[in-house]
Amino acid sequence: MKAPYRSWVEISRQRIAANYRAIAAKVGPGVELVPVVKADAYHHGAVEVSRVLETEGARWLAVSSVEEGVHLREAGIQARILVMADFLPPEQDALFDYALTPAIHSLDKIRQLDKMAARRDQHLPVHLKIDSGMSRLGVRASSEQILAALRPVKCLQLEGLMTHFASAADYSSQQTADQVRFFDSMASQLHRAGLKPRYTHMSATTPIAYGRRQAWRNMVRPGLAIYGYVPPARGEEAPPVVLNVKPALEWKAALVEIKRIPKGSLVGYEGLFRAPKPLTVGVLSVGYADGLPHRLSNRGQLIAGGRLVNILGAVSMDLTTIDLTDVPNLQVGDSVTLLGTEGDVSIDAHQMATFAGTISYSILCGITARVHRVYV
Ligand SMILES: *Cc1c(COP(=O)(O)O)cnc(C)c1O
Repeated sequence: MKAPYRSWVEISRQRIAANYRAIAAKVGPGVELVPVVKADAYHHGAVEVSRVLETEGARWLAVSSVEEGVHLREAGIQARILVMADFLPPEQDALFDYALTPAIHSLDKIRQLDKMAARRDQHLPVHLKIDSGMSRLGVRASSEQILAALRPVKCLQLEGLMTHFASAADYSSQQTADQVRFFDSMASQLHRAGLKPRYTHMSATTPIAYGRRQAWRNMVRPGLAIYGYVPPARGEEAPPVVLNVKPALEWKAALVEIKRIPKGSLVGYEGLFRAPKPLTVGVLSVGYADGLPHRLSNRGQLIAGGRLVNILGAVSMDLTTIDLTDVPNLQVGDSVTLLGTEGDVSIDAHQMATFAGTISYSILCGITARVHRVYV
């Protein structure tokens, strides 16, 4: 196939929709889905993905920042938008102006936001995040302190109570069970004092995909599964994956040169690779400035002409060299596949991540803006 760009991703709207439906069917109608479209939908394009999800019936979306929420509103997205990763004082007004629903992580912010809401004569639904043991975002206070902070509140409405797991995929760890226990105890203390938020939520992709039902409650926040991936589980007691999702993104690049090099040639920066025999080298117009990890130097693989081939030498900023010695049928201008399928050969973001010593999330989010997006 001839390459239309130096490097591009093809994103399947149908795949996003099918993944959304698979998650909805798995958790059932009593559980509200909040697909996570932060980080530009894990680089799949937040606006495009959100439109697909709205068409599929999503009533909620989640982003990290106010800025990401505003971007969706300006593109005409109507769903409720949960802002999960906190907000700065200068961003507070935009929560009201753009009807964004913040997760609140400190008792101070409850007071500040309520004051602002009163000044604006507006009501604002909020979700309170409890730090149940991850020590990242979330309130770490006693139920008495939380109740005392909420008592004088006039204009905020506590719509949700949430937490987030640190080790959901590690079945050899007790941390998730401990977090659930901590959260439940907090929730029931607040409940006894009359605080009964409409939504309770704690699960991202992993507890959905491995069927940890007691963590689903009545709202879940799948991110990675929307894009077709499930994090690998650890531990002997890990149950099988019960969710069927498939990658929605393929990543390709163009072959800009093909050349023969003699035995003994050094390839690329630092001469990291020395040809053990005469080789055919392909030069690709993709590099670490596109998000191909530099750690794949001399160790990664991709698909060229329907076969797995090795990356030779260093991945450089804009170019990468591959071994085409056993792939005679390719020409300059053809495309190769970094993530995706050719014939019966596939590479996904998990596999690339394993070669690069990182995680699939980081591979997807690492694809940079220079890489064209094509929706198919
Ligand atoms: C990113 C994120 C999610 C989604 O996580 P996935 O593992 O991609 O499903 C859910 N909740 C919070 C708080 C997050 O930051």
